[in-house]
Amino acid sequence: MTDKQVTIEAKLHALQEAFGAQLPERLATIQRTWAMVQEGADAIVHKDLYRFVHSLAGSAGTFGYQQLGNQARQLEEFLAQLTDVAYHSPESRATINNALAQFETLAVDGPDNVDGALSATASQTVPYTSHSKTLVYVLEDNQLLAQEVVSQLEHFGYEVESFLASADIILAQQIRPADLLILDIVLPEGDLEGTRIAPQLQALNDKYVPSIFISARDDWEARLAALRAGGSAYFSKPLDFAALVESLDQLLDSNVAVPFRVLIVEDTVLLAEHYATVLQAAGVDTAVINAPEQLLDAMSDFRPELILMDLYMPNCSGIEAAQIIRQHPLHRSLPIVFISTEGELNRQLNALKMGGDDFLQKPITDLHLVAAVSIRAQRFRGLNSQMRCDSLTGLLNHITLKLTLEHELALSQRQKGELSFAMLDIDHFKSINDRYGHPVGDQVIKSLARLLSQRLRKSDTAARYGGEEFALILPDTSLEAARILLDDLRQSFSQIIFTHEGREFSATFSAGIAMAPVVSSMKGLIAVADNALYEAKHGGRDQVVLSQIEQ
Ligand code: GH3
Ligand code: MG
Ligand code: MG
Ligand code: MG
Repeated sequence: MTDKQVTIEAKLHALQEAFGAQLPERLATIQRTWAMVQEGADAIVHKDLYRFVHSLAGSAGTFGYQQLGNQARQLEEFLAQLTDVAYHSPESRATINNALAQFETLAVDGPDNVDGALSATASQTVPYTSHSKTLVYVLEDNQLLAQEVVSQLEHFGYEVESFLASADIILAQQIRPADLLILDIVLPEGDLEGTRIAPQLQALNDKYVPSIFISARDDWEARLAALRAGGSAYFSKPLDFAALVESLDQLLDSNVAVPFRVLIVEDTVLLAEHYATVLQAAGVDTAVINAPEQLLDAMSDFRPELILMDLYMPNCSGIEAAQIIRQHPLHRSLPIVFISTEGELNRQLNALKMGGDDFLQKPITDLHLVAAVSIRAQRFRGLNSQMRCDSLTGLLNHITLKLTLEHELALSQRQKGELSFAMLDIDHFKSINDRYGHPVGDQVIKSLARLLSQRLRKSDTAARYGGEEFALILPDTSLEAARILLDDLRQSFSQIIFTHEGREFSATFSAGIAMAPVVSSMKGLIAVADNALYEAKHGGRDQVVLSQIEQ
């Protein structure tokens, strides 16, 4: 078992214990409420009793108290069909008293599924996806070129280390294995040294590590040797860095899946934590809120790809919360999966009609939960990216940018915060196309997109606004902070080296920034940022201009 699995198992056990510790208090509450019913309290108290039993039925099984959960479910169903008068019949009293006495016994007995449900989760865990930077090793005996490769790849967010001799890279790969190797072929050790050591490097780890060859040789023998050594790509020198980065992205993309983001809305704190732990164990990114009031903020901060929503919560039902989410065009197709003890078919159908995509019944097995969530999130991700993203860069498209800006602006106004909006345009792009051709122009656009998405925070948004124009939404960012960021991006971009037929060139961009609440509408922000961009162009390009509409 890996360390992570041990931690998860420990966490699940801790949650189970916490639930066990809460049980006497929960049962006492049920007993107290039942006593009030018997003393003739009004019908509201009947509902309370039902609610407490309902909640017990929904959670006990999840924490390993299977029998208790089943008994609670039976009592819940019994209470559901009782009229207010029938609560007081001798038969009902006997049934309820009986059930409550059983609850007490089962609670004292402790969990009946200590190993079952919980360890099933831990042993079936899907591998973790790492959130840390991708590590790339470069073997290159030409020190200048090695440094260049390192700095170019670092612009794109890779962690890169270079080695001059094959013995060094072999040692490093044993100590701290890289996720990808870039190997020069001709080295002082031999004319095909790079291809010779590639299989050795591969054999050091269980995990497949893609390798890319770079070489001054462009002959058949070298290419064949690289292929036989398991190389995934071959670049002859001088290196086309944009193409190299694209190749890295592609090779690593299929290796490292970005985890799904699932927002859990559940008022029972322990249950919420349990779901979160189970999903995290399966490599899902989770955020939890215990009250629907926090929903809109969480939507914006966390950007879930699926919402797992409790149907019954005290102040606002899951159905109402789903309808509020659906009011925004951005979230019309976001999957919402209700989770509840509700067993009645009609109510389930109603929940689906009101904006839900699926219905999971508590207690749900951990594996079922993971499967239900992953399948839906995956489908959504596919559809969503086609609809919302630009196909060349993968950034948000023009329409989605406007919807997102509207949404973020409203949120920022509610929180009385600041939001910066920037427009970027590549300088003299037409002449890049003219000189090097349209496909090279596309590479420049892609590189800028890659740089933007790499550098922004999770709460920021980058979009392709049009041809070689981009837009950035930066919530909670002052004009000055935005200027520092944009200027940093501007400098990084200008240092990226592009290559075409052996000729190297670089590109620059100009940017204009506007800020809310100084400018208070979506259209206003776009117009003002565009004006500032126009000024940056006229001021000589390769610069960032802040909107003059201030104070
Ligand atoms: P300025 O510094 O004033 O922005 O000059 P510019 O040449 O960048 O501006 P202009 O708007 O005159 O030209 C933009 C060019 O971008 C024209 C268009 O053919 C090209 N372009 C637009 N979309 C794409 C694309 O997707 N790929 C490529 N390669 N070129 C594109
Ligand atoms: Mg609830
Ligand atoms: Mg333009
Ligand atoms: Mg331009």
